[in-house]
Amino acid sequence: GIRNLSDLKKVAVLGHGNDGTVYKVRHKKNHSFYALKVLRFNQNAIDIIQPATVLEAEILKRVDSPYIVKCHAVFDHATQEADNGCDLSFVMEYMEGGSLHDVLTEHHRLPEEAISMLAKRVFEGLDYLHGMHIVHRDIKPSNLLVNDKGEVKIADFGVSHVVEGRFDATELSAGTCAYMSPERVDPERWGGEDVDEFAGDVWSMGVVMLECFLGYFPLIGPGQRPDWATLMCAICFGEKLEMPEKASPEFQNVLKRCLEKDWRKRATVKELLHHPFVNRMH
Ligand code: ATP
Ligand code: MG
Repeated sequence: GIRNLSDLKKVAVLGHGNDGTVYKVRHKKNHSFYALKVLRFNQNAIDIIQPATVLEAEILKRVDSPYIVKCHAVFDHATQEADNGCDLSFVMEYMEGGSLHDVLTEHHRLPEEAISMLAKRVFEGLDYLHGMHIVHRDIKPSNLLVNDKGEVKIADFGVSHVVEGRFDATELSAGTCAYMSPERVDPERWGGEDVDEFAGDVWSMGVVMLECFLGYFPLIGPGQRPDWATLMCAICFGEKLEMPEKASPEFQNVLKRCLEKDWRKRATVKELLHHPFVNRMH
């Protein structure tokens, strides 16, 4: 097992996100590779973060599914730099194929067969998480990772929970809200007392599937600025999304069911697991 961060040696940088850096690391004794995500917090944030982290680590350890990127350990410790900050480090399963975002950058778009297989695995993963009362809240291409067998898994649900307390909604970057459902972006209009938070993950996956098919982010036009206001309008007030003509009827239907603006009418993960498009390759 991994008892200490000093058991691991950094071998490469895999990528940077909004809140931290992901390294490829190697265990000094058993030589296996892992991904290490390091989040940096300043002194003020520590009081908010620490209690949440302990809880989060407990939840993370119990999450064990072939559809979810495994988190092996969480460490918190003072940063190496002298700014009184605190690092939070997640030791994760290393996914050799990178993210769906990388795949889309390389291949531009995916055929329906590939999207169907992707959907099957992501909805299985969401079903597992939702069964544990965990809402992911950050389903997007960079959080869907591929291993050396070509299998897709969901990453970063724990991280997004931990990070949540730090931001005010008005500070949300456009990148963070692009895949958010109408009821999360504008709860007063689309929400309601009893809003089912799991429905937000279904919406996000609808946007991801449509993006995979079209090869570009589908909610705003190519000439529009992808800022918070433009996105919010597109998500909440945009006309009914036009379904791609070349898509098969089953695919169009699954997209329509996921991208239903009213969360009450949106398909549930359980329903989607029975959908013909999602089961096409099975
Ligand atoms: P955001 O900060 O908005 O969540 P992000 O998901 O791109 O954006 P990170 O989660 O920090 O940011 O990940 C950065 C990159 O590191 C990812 O895009 C992915 O390519 C890579 N990466 C993350 N986790 C792993 C992993 N377990 N195995 C392999 N590569 C990973
Ligand atoms: Mg991520």
